[in-house]
Amino acid sequence: MVSYNFPSQIHLLMITILVIITTLLTPITTNTSSLPWNILSNDNFAGKLTTASSSVESAATDFGHITKIFPSAVLNPSSVQDITDLIKLSFDSQSSFPLAARGHGHSHRGQAAAKDGVVVNMRSMVNRDRGIKVSRTGLYADVDSAWLWIEVLNKTLELGLTPVSWTDYLYLTVGGTLSNGGISGQTFRYGPQISNVLEMDVITGKGEIATCSKDMNSDLFYAALGGLGQFGIITRARIKLELAPKKAKWLRFLYTDFSEFTRDQERLISETNGPHFLEGSVMLDHGPPDNWRSTYYPPSEHMRIVSMVKQHRVIYCLEVVKYYDETSQHSVNEEMEELSDSLNYERGFVYEKDVTYMDFLNRVRTGELKLKSKGKWDVPHPWLNLFVPKSQISRFEYGVFKGIILRNNITTGPLLVYPMNRNKWNDRMSTVIPEEDVFYAVGFLRSASFDNWDDYEKENMEVLKFCEDANMRVIQYLPYYASQEGWVGHFGPRWNIFLERKYRYDPRMILSPGQNIFP
Ligand code: FAD
Repeated sequence: MVSYNFPSQIHLLMITILVIITTLLTPITTNTSSLPWNILSNDNFAGKLTTASSSVESAATDFGHITKIFPSAVLNPSSVQDITDLIKLSFDSQSSFPLAARGHGHSHRGQAAAKDGVVVNMRSMVNRDRGIKVSRTGLYADVDSAWLWIEVLNKTLELGLTPVSWTDYLYLTVGGTLSNGGISGQTFRYGPQISNVLEMDVITGKGEIATCSKDMNSDLFYAALGGLGQFGIITRARIKLELAPKKAKWLRFLYTDFSEFTRDQERLISETNGPHFLEGSVMLDHGPPDNWRSTYYPPSEHMRIVSMVKQHRVIYCLEVVKYYDETSQHSVNEEMEELSDSLNYERGFVYEKDVTYMDFLNRVRTGELKLKSKGKWDVPHPWLNLFVPKSQISRFEYGVFKGIILRNNITTGPLLVYPMNRNKWNDRMSTVIPEEDVFYAVGFLRSASFDNWDDYEKENMEVLKFCEDANMRVIQYLPYYASQEGWVGHFGPRWNIFLERKYRYDPRMILSPGQNIFP
């Protein structure tokens, strides 16, 4: 284990100068198009490193189905040592080769790809007998980063415990979401998943393994959280836990007025005793609510909802959830009634479900299986996710939902819009967020077909251009840029810190080349 101390200001200045000089003087020797001749015959990787076309082919694509980026080989590691050995081999080679951790490959733009390099299939590390250790007294779980969140949930629930912050969909790896942020309707209250990690083991781009936390190697800790895989491969994360509730009271309210909708959302996320979960979505006049979320409304209500959408062209759905168990069973109905009375939704358009905690958290799975059965899951997903400052959300709604999106009339798939509190994030983490105290997550979770996905891409560009021209200071979440210039703009004043960290932890720029930050 190595120790990384946070450098002083003078150190930082020296590093910055060094970075500039090195960038100017040194030819970049990474991203070679072939692996060192001895890697395939290396005993350390016998039976684990493969060039089989089926493995290479499946590592070349992801959930997005937009890119195809072929690695030269795939490593199926069975231990942390295997990954360390591979990174060291690249780091020590005269011409290093790129490599990327691949969690569950649910990126949408080749972010887990390694062109002509090695993709590390993290899921091969999963061992059901080990890999998660729960501390009841410490209220945390030590989890191998290759585990899916659904697996973590199943394990912790066996002991009556649960992580507190989630993504909407649970078939994502711990390492994958911690490299981005991990947001959902719990974020306003508990912070993103990256705010709920106590400690991690990370293998840097030098092949050195370090344990890090807010008190130990803290710069590496914060760098890797939301670090897009740029500073190291996370192999273990210590996740905060709480006592698990048993059930979820889940209410959806429909709105026709966007300002009432956002006013109610913003008030609810400011209340200490408010809901445990809050999200919102947009429904457009594009036919029935036929997406992952259509199962949320009783079939008998579909026509009534459709005719409201037809009348107003755009309507909004606020979703709130309160968890409860035997002890709070009696008060939860009263609390939800009080909450409903305080909201300005369209009276008569409220829908209630009472489900188990597990069914609530795993709600997207039902939609996934339905889409899979119709062959509509493994299709291109030209997604766009944005953080929009609160002060800009009305302009955004008017220009984007009621402007671009209605005009183009092509958007399919869920369209999410919900607020979160900035004070639940930490500026030392790598994820970039808006400066305002409250900002909105807006997700265009599009499903396209292989012949029309670039129409959605054009629409994404139109949305981004609109925001830029209107100077809305919108930031991409799960960001994608075709050039480094885009990334420099994305990080803004934080670009230098990102660059310094890259030189500190991955000076040969080996890791996660699919993010396209360091070409
Ligand atoms: P991969 O796609 O395999 O990897 C993503 C990136 O992380 C790559 O750069 C990779 O190199 C790097 N990486 C992977 N593992 C590690 C590791 N152990 N150490 C270091 N770097 C690593 N996100 C949200 O925040 N909230 C949501 O509600 C949400 N819902 C989603 C629903 C669906 C259906 C899908 C497909 C995605 C959703 N996402 C959501 C996005 C998701 O969180 C990211 O795409 C995440 O990266 C996917 O995890 P993965 O394990 O598939 O990562």
